[in-house]
Amino acid sequence: MSKQPLTPKFGSKVHLKDYDPDYCEDLDKKTAKKEEDQLEKRLAALQEMLYAQNKSALLVVFQAMDAGGKDGAIKKVFDSVNPQGVHVTGFKVPTPEELAHDFLWRVHMATPGRGYIGIFNRSHYEDVLVVRVNELVPREVWERRYDDINAFEKLLTDNGVTILKFYLHISKDEQKQRFQERLDNPDKHWKFSMGDLSVRARWDDYMSAYEDALTLCNTAYAPWHIVPANRKWYRDLVVTRTIVHAMEQMGLAYPEPKEDLSGVVIPD
Ligand code: AMP
Ligand code: MG
Repeated sequence: MSKQPLTPKFGSKVHLKDYDPDYCEDLDKKTAKKEEDQLEKRLAALQEMLYAQNKSALLVVFQAMDAGGKDGAIKKVFDSVNPQGVHVTGFKVPTPEELAHDFLWRVHMATPGRGYIGIFNRSHYEDVLVVRVNELVPREVWERRYDDINAFEKLLTDNGVTILKFYLHISKDEQKQRFQERLDNPDKHWKFSMGDLSVRARWDDYMSAYEDALTLCNTAYAPWHIVPANRKWYRDLVVTRTIVHAMEQMGLAYPEPKEDLSGVVIPD
């Protein structure tokens, strides 16, 4: 198997058919899990330093088709991290109040403050995905949004927010299997809605919309990662590796004490 890029080349058009959703290097699940456990320990330590240092923030964006593994990746990758330092925001159909504002209003409010990891389960990219496919706004409105998104993400990174964007790439067949599992298991019925089938029917339109978002909003300061996601264990490994690697570059460290603590004696 030849090596598959994780981040597309900046400026070149993304064709998702060039990205194999089954790709997993030549790893097996057991080896991957071992690496995953090590990385999750490191992630927990890095998060503590991020929080203690209170200087910068990390924003992790998850986008995928239904059943693509957004919920699963969030649950697995962050299960060793102190929940106090993490905010997860899921973006649903906008409320009337949200729709009365520009599309980034609700998103900006959810960005992580210094010291925090913010996780987006869906994001501002819905405004160039579902909104575009379902023609919820005219073309000239969604077309402008790619530039708006790039400017917004630049603003965030200029203000100390490291941004990691993950597109969890599953095949149409894999989605079918995962929907079937949801139908077969009563405990998973709540995850299924008939609307998911109308979205599935527009699969090719979604792929085109994703390709444009992955092409036009793939910047050096906020790159996309196209994660092969048919195998859940490989998906989680790639996401965890990428986050740990990025956090290692953030210059995280425990802060120096504000006062000299060397001679402090705690009174009885
Ligand atoms: P779920 O992922 O099951 O929580 O579903 C959330 C739903 O909200 C999905 O169908 C999304 O397509 C939809 N959604 C999220 N953001 C937007 C948006 N900006 N405009 C329209 N629909 C959205
Ligand atoms: Mg869903």
